[in-house]
Amino acid sequence: MSFTDTLNTLSWGAERLSLMSKTAADVERALGKTQRSFEDFKALISPVARPYIEAMAQQSQALTRQRFGLNQQLFAPLYLSNACANVCTYCGFSMDNHLRRKVLNEAEIDREANALAAMGFQHILLVTGEAPKVAGVDYLAAALQQLQPRFAQVSMEVQPLDQPDYERLQQQGLHGVLVYQETYHRGVYAEHHPVGKKADFDYRLAAPERLGNAGVHKIGLGVLLGLTDWRTDCLMMAHHLRYLEQRYWRSKFSVAFPRLRPAEGDYHVAQPIGDAELVQLICAWRLFSPDLELSLSTRERADFRDRLLPLGITTLSAASKTQPGGYAVDADAALEQFEIDDARSVGDVVRAIQHAGYQPVWKDWQPGW
Ligand code: SF4
Repeated sequence: MSFTDTLNTLSWGAERLSLMSKTAADVERALGKTQRSFEDFKALISPVARPYIEAMAQQSQALTRQRFGLNQQLFAPLYLSNACANVCTYCGFSMDNHLRRKVLNEAEIDREANALAAMGFQHILLVTGEAPKVAGVDYLAAALQQLQPRFAQVSMEVQPLDQPDYERLQQQGLHGVLVYQETYHRGVYAEHHPVGKKADFDYRLAAPERLGNAGVHKIGLGVLLGLTDWRTDCLMMAHHLRYLEQRYWRSKFSVAFPRLRPAEGDYHVAQPIGDAELVQLICAWRLFSPDLELSLSTRERADFRDRLLPLGITTLSAASKTQPGGYAVDADAALEQFEIDDARSVGDVVRAIQHAGYQPVWKDWQPGW
């Protein structure tokens, strides 16, 4: 039974109703446990848990320190291309936005890699739009071959691929793949992904299973917070995570919290999530899955990132550029996927981590160990 089958058995409306019906007693019961069920997760992300955020944060902080120590992993995205053959209503790279398209060549990738290495990064995330004709598997494999010897971890956030393609990249040293479903609501998904291969909800949904079958070490999940009701979306993602954890126990899993940001085009955030709710959500994920990597990007404000840092987060990006060539080749902000909010230098982020009593971790992985 695939996760698509599982998702098809879950009624969005019924799950939402059940979540919104949780009581303070349900939240207290969930807080009193050491292993939490879907019912507990529902209670922890429900509106009624709002007065319990402080208690959740204390437990989340303690659990995170127990499992991960006083460490924060650092990584940077390396945008290889902003070409995209899809229309996504919320994204600056959407095919219908008239921006200059750029696909980095080998020399340009080298310059970007030099800039990131000079900042100290050892973990990088290769990012592209979804344009298989100009940035397909062969292009990704060549970029990986070029970069893998220079960095301890090279991961990707690119178009979903077939299993043999993941196997090929995994054999070349690919560390992890982030493939966010964006939303688990089929109707909302269809509305926001009308054109291109991404319109195929089920192909995207099955990508983490293909990654698990291919033996990729880290698999990243996420929903775009703001597209629809974040609570029900995250509940569906919790089902996805449990499904994957039970089958691909050799892989490690991560969850990110991309809140929709201003970008090229005229998208307005449909159901924004507030700061307090984001804190609640991060703590709920930690209490639900103690070993889960929780990643926070520079989409968030610097002061907010600093306050979130001890509450459950384990991985931070820093000094990010969201356009191809943004570090050394082409500083044109018009090529950006979205605006970032934490524009601090790497040095400033490192100092903030240390000030909070944590150690910045540049490298925790060496292929061949
Ligand atoms: S979200 Fe991804 S697939 Fe959609 S337009 Fe942006 S880059 Fe392309």
